[in-house]
Amino acid sequence: MSVFNRLLVGTLPLVPKAIVGRVAARYVAGATLDEALKVVRDLNSKGAMATIDVLGEEVSEKSKALAAVEEYLQVFTAIEAQHVDSNVSIKLTLLGLKIDEGFCRDNVERIAAKAKEHGNFVRIDMEDNTTTDATLRIYHALQPRYGNLGVVLQAYMRRTLRDIEELPGKGASVRLCKGIYVEPREIAWKGYDTVRANYLMALEKMFARGVYVGIATHDEYLACAASALVDKHGLKREEYEFQMLLGVDEELRRILIAAGHRLRVYVPYGADWYPYSMRRLRENPEVAGHVAKALLSGR
Ligand SMILES: Cc1cc2nc3c(=O)[nH]c(=O)nc-3n(C[C@H](O)[C@H](O)[C@H](O)COP(=O)(O)OP(=O)(O)OC[C@H]3O[C@@H](n4cnc5c(N)ncnc54)[C@H](O)[C@@H]3O)c2cc1C
Repeated sequence: MSVFNRLLVGTLPLVPKAIVGRVAARYVAGATLDEALKVVRDLNSKGAMATIDVLGEEVSEKSKALAAVEEYLQVFTAIEAQHVDSNVSIKLTLLGLKIDEGFCRDNVERIAAKAKEHGNFVRIDMEDNTTTDATLRIYHALQPRYGNLGVVLQAYMRRTLRDIEELPGKGASVRLCKGIYVEPREIAWKGYDTVRANYLMALEKMFARGVYVGIATHDEYLACAASALVDKHGLKREEYEFQMLLGVDEELRRILIAAGHRLRVYVPYGADWYPYSMRRLRENPEVAGHVAKALLSGR
């Protein structure tokens, strides 16, 4: 990322919300489930699978967490009714993790039970380091009972290689990503190439243990190295998948699908788009140009 873009990233919280919304629109499917389903249908027609995420995080009221659970229950009904190829992704701080872990686990359990009824799958996103232990605890408690839960591990976390050893191996499903939260160096690798190296070590370790991995990255270097590891381990097409975010590098998405890989796109929707969009903008290497254009267009 250029120095100018990095400077702009620092001042993003000062950019008016309306401008952030306009620039970040590409990362979000819309405000409603219907809009998300339209995006999913379009992705399916292009050979991609989807994972639908209800936007929202860090809730401090039980009513908001319960409303999110109800929304997720509707998502499963709609996926089945509309015959689209999608599972769901959930954030535990939206489901009340910061209120009470037991309350959150009960909410995840309701979602997992509904998913099971519909033959579907639930991916538990990983948030910042204050949630890692609890997220893994909830995953390990519920996965043996429901069998349709997956979790996320972050390659920037030093603990990740150890966390892989706690996985059951065959039957486990893990999305591997670099990690997006700003973490202290004591617990997280900081170098760009160090994170790449840890990503590939974690990927190889999981392949060797028979874990189903969602290889979540837009980093062409990692996509290339991961494809080589898929070949090295003789994995069949159904034994792994690539994953990408809505609105990021559609060309790489097409290339991976054309090469015969399965690929899933993360499709977030909902009214609470701001924190998610800010994280995406911080990673966009051309963020300054987009913001300047939106400001100059004067709308
Ligand atoms: C499906 C999916 C799910 C994820 N779930 C989680 C999660 O649960 N927890 C978590 O901490 N992180 C999650 N992430 C985010 C992830 O950790 C990274 O922050 C993010 O994917 C960027 O890392 P990268 O591997 O794409 O590499 P980078 O080096 O960041 O990006 C590689 C290239 O991709 C392009 N690019 C990347 N991001 C953007 C963007 N926003 N806009 C425009 N271009 C971009 C640029 O060309 C960049 O040079 C998820 C990512 C994906 C793809």
